Amino acid sequence: MTAPATSDTLMEDIVGLCKRRGFIFQSSEIYGGYNGFYDYGPLGVELRNNIKQAWWRDFVQCRDDIEGLDSTIIMHPKIWKASGHVDGFSDPMVDCKESKLRYRADQLFFAPVTVDGETIGYVSVVECIDQQEVAEKAAAEMKRKMAKQGVLDTIKLKEYTEAKPEQYELIPSPATGKPGSLTEPREFKLMFETKVGPLADDAATAYLRPETAQGIFANYKNIVDTGRVKIPFGIAQIGKAFRNEITPRNFIFRSREFEQMEIEYFISPSADWKTLHREWIDTCTDWLVSIGLPREGISEDIHPEDKLAFYSQATTDLMFQFPHGEQELWGIACRSDYDLKQHQEHSGKSMTIFDETAKEKYVPHVIEPSLGVDRTLLAVLSAAYTEDEVPNDKGKVEKRVLLKFSPKIAPVKAAIFPLLKNKPELVESAKKLYKKLQRRWNVFYDASGAIGRRYRRQDEIGTPFGITIDFDTIEKDGTVTLRDRDTCEQRRVTEDELIKFLEEQIGG
Ligand code: ATP
Repeated sequence: MTAPATSDTLMEDIVGLCKRRGFIFQSSEIYGGYNGFYDYGPLGVELRNNIKQAWWRDFVQCRDDIEGLDSTIIMHPKIWKASGHVDGFSDPMVDCKESKLRYRADQLFFAPVTVDGETIGYVSVVECIDQQEVAEKAAAEMKRKMAKQGVLDTIKLKEYTEAKPEQYELIPSPATGKPGSLTEPREFKLMFETKVGPLADDAATAYLRPETAQGIFANYKNIVDTGRVKIPFGIAQIGKAFRNEITPRNFIFRSREFEQMEIEYFISPSADWKTLHREWIDTCTDWLVSIGLPREGISEDIHPEDKLAFYSQATTDLMFQFPHGEQELWGIACRSDYDLKQHQEHSGKSMTIFDETAKEKYVPHVIEPSLGVDRTLLAVLSAAYTEDEVPNDKGKVEKRVLLKFSPKIAPVKAAIFPLLKNKPELVESAKKLYKKLQRRWNVFYDASGAIGRRYRRQDEIGTPFGITIDFDTIEKDGTVTLRDRDTCEQRRVTEDELIKFLEEQIGG
């Protein structure tokens, strides 16, 4: 019996487990919390680091064509002018004048309610997994209340951004259920501002970066000048990004402070960008599978041409089946030479590169795979969260919660248990092994409680392997019991076999 990936309570279950076991806490919780900000606890920080390290190893260290970078969060404000963020990085927002609540207009949906073609009112709904159903129910309720005879026509939801001015007054606010209080959509700037230096005038205004990508473009020339790269090549960066999201929600899916893992992959303007784009989409999908996401939970959303930014040649988002629905996890965009040309123009510095093979000089084009660390972590948690039933120490079948993390990214790789805590020989032998493994991996030592309970505690935090030291270990052959988290199967292995097995499973 396994919990379905989109069960109604999955998000609540994950949030509860994350707090209880020390993965993720609401930021500033002792002061009532701070919307859109999250802190990572002892296990969360390990999981997060493991995801980042796996990405860095696979995309930077194991590739000869990608170099790493770590640029500052606050950069010269002209960078954000050149990139278009100062003038254009915003989301459409709509206010409810009565409740004072604020919505993202592209996440607020509305539809006219028509009975036999006659409009009897409007329904509205905030984006959610069952928005169509919610809207249909509201429409049926409206028809019933107005005692209208006839057939309710199909409800066709549209984004509030597509509403006509004469409809603003007629669409009900999702907060009050009554029409007349929603404003027209207005642009809301997403960049956080700050002041740099002792003078707090306009000239001191700077921004917390809303993406790490511009730090890459701003350093592109420096990296080209080191002579380490030749076309095609990439620059990768992991780092914090900040967006004053209008409606942060769905736990760490959309927050105001988050982390990104981004690559700018520079190619020749005459390269076959469509093939390279496809290769990147496949590489990124394979990587997600390598850290434990089910391939069938990943799909592709190809942005239609008429929705692309004018400089963009193509964008495909890798979507994942999150507990709150199928949503963007990884954006993979072909951004032409737009960013570099913008910086060339605004800085007055040449962004050309000499292509040794083609013997020509040009401003390269770029493919940008951009992934959120926190969204990846949420995807990993959703895919790993499982409920099943296993027998306890006394053979009675009990419900069990476990996180089926891939050993590669599991926060704790193995737990070491002396069978009994009051037998010094067992404790000594277990501690010796623990200290030995600890030098290579994040492992855990636990001597308290019945062995079954100790296993269960580790299952719940996703520790893939349990190692028990018993009397056979110290009195007979030195072998230990190795238990598999998912199957609960146990087998005896020697210490050498154990280490070889852990190396194979965890890597590194
Ligand atoms: P969305 O449409 O969901 O707001 P976006 O298209 O604005 O996302 P990008 O600008 O392409 O996102 O950012 C690249 C990646 O950064 C996203 O695919 C996502 O993984 C991550 N990301 C973006 N915004 C947030 C956020 N507010 N919280 C957490 N992760 C985010």
